[in-house]
Amino acid sequence: MPVAALGDYDQGNIFARILRGEIPSQRVYEDDHAIAFHDINPQAPLHVLVIPRGPYRSWADFSANGSDAEIAGFVRAVGAVARQLGLEEPGYRLLANAGLDAHQEVPHLHVHVFGGRPLGPMLTR
Ligand code: 5GP
Repeated sequence: MPVAALGDYDQGNIFARILRGEIPSQRVYEDDHAIAFHDINPQAPLHVLVIPRGPYRSWADFSANGSDAEIAGFVRAVGAVARQLGLEEPGYRLLANAGLDAHQEVPHLHVHVFGGRPLGPMLTR
């Protein structure tokens, strides 16, 4: 079910549970500000999710309420993940769904990193 971008942070959401180590994930990266792990239902040969450690629901929430250090750390982490996965040269796509129209399913900010093949047009019709 998609979720709205607004509302209280749900401490029981699946990514909060992954952050707390209550649910396993295939982590590929972690630092003080972010962790990254393989998506459970990959849409490309490489499909990794990067999430901030802080309790932010969406890009709207994070950009309004995250500290400068958290925001800088998260942006750097996304870049580091793409570099670490060897995606800089062939290229990759970043995507962040926010709210109902974008069909955001998990109410903890996440950036999808897609790569590993030519990714085609940006949106399907
Ligand atoms: P959204 O639609 O919110 O942008 O994307 C949520 C993503 O989280 C989906 O691509 C979905 O496959 C992934 N996902 C949902 N539950 C889990 C889980 O338990 N573990 C992992 N690794 N990914 C998940």
